[in-house]
Amino acid sequence: MEGCGVFYCMKRITLFIFLITLAGCSQHPLVRETRILMDTFAEISCFDADKDKAIKAMDEAFKEMKRIEKVFSKFDEKSEISRINKSAGLEEVSTTEEVIGLIERSIYYSKISDGAFDITIAPLMEIWGFVHKNNFIPDKKTIEEALKKVSYENIVLDTQRLTIHFLHKDTKIDLGGIAKGYAVDRAKEVFLSYGIKNCLINLGGNIFALDSAPGNRNWHIGIRDPKDKNKILKTLYLKGQAVSTSGNYERFVVLDGKRYSHIISPVTGMPVQGIMSVTVVADSGELADALSTAIFVMQEKKTLEFIKSIKGIEVLIVKEDGKKIEYP
Ligand code: ADP
Ligand code: MG
Repeated sequence: MEGCGVFYCMKRITLFIFLITLAGCSQHPLVRETRILMDTFAEISCFDADKDKAIKAMDEAFKEMKRIEKVFSKFDEKSEISRINKSAGLEEVSTTEEVIGLIERSIYYSKISDGAFDITIAPLMEIWGFVHKNNFIPDKKTIEEALKKVSYENIVLDTQRLTIHFLHKDTKIDLGGIAKGYAVDRAKEVFLSYGIKNCLINLGGNIFALDSAPGNRNWHIGIRDPKDKNKILKTLYLKGQAVSTSGNYERFVVLDGKRYSHIISPVTGMPVQGIMSVTVVADSGELADALSTAIFVMQEKKTLEFIKSIKGIEVLIVKEDGKKIEYP
């Protein structure tokens, strides 16, 4: 499995947000399938009177997410992102409208989060051993050197000519904090194009709950307590909404016996400490995904003000010390 080892494990053990019940069982048959995608589990549950149509739509939705993985994977040397990372520091690189679009929106999320969300985090992911295994903590100088390459302001896009260029020759991008959310949005579009509405897509804790569960009811989504996996911390009731959780408990490196999270501050260059999970409900998977990563990084003082500035989102933060912050 790409990028997976003892130190960096696929979300195999538990998904921290999950479908609690297929509430209100309908007369329509349930079609459900799980595949491995983007280094995690992808599960789709779907009800429709026409079972064959549902199976076809589901297969297409999985294929769409696989296509997105191939474009945006940082592990696949042939991906569009790898191609950009190889050359955009040296010259302008032409790419697709889709890639320019997601990068442009990522820059927007950087701006609104005051740089907490930043896809140029890649050089820091490298020195902390999230790309190739490391056995040591990077020293101050290495972190300072990496930080020079990290800033969304280093990305120059030409949205007309569909080109990208980096102002620093060693800047690289990593869309790991947004690509899964984007993928569930695309999968949702596949179901809509088939006229299927009772459907739930879960890609490693990035969920889109389409329209409604059977019987026009809300989907019941459980958020597990990161401190006690047998406990449900909160139940969400979703309809036509997305939810995403960023956590420090399943993807991390262990250096000198200490765990370091895979979410890194673009300001300090350090993996974020003190937070266990951030769950965000939003209108799109992409927004929920980007915001859950951004809020994870943000200093507590700024967090509430930021959350309030974005219309219609719900947030649950669980800190290492057990403190929970909920909004609204
Ligand atoms: P997960 O991948 O577990 O769903 P996230 O959505 O929070 O969790 O994404 C974490 C990933 O985002 C990291 O593995 C890395 O690829 C990337 N990342 C790490 N720190 C940042 C950051 N400050 N801004 C944007 N992306 C980040
Ligand atoms: Mg995210």
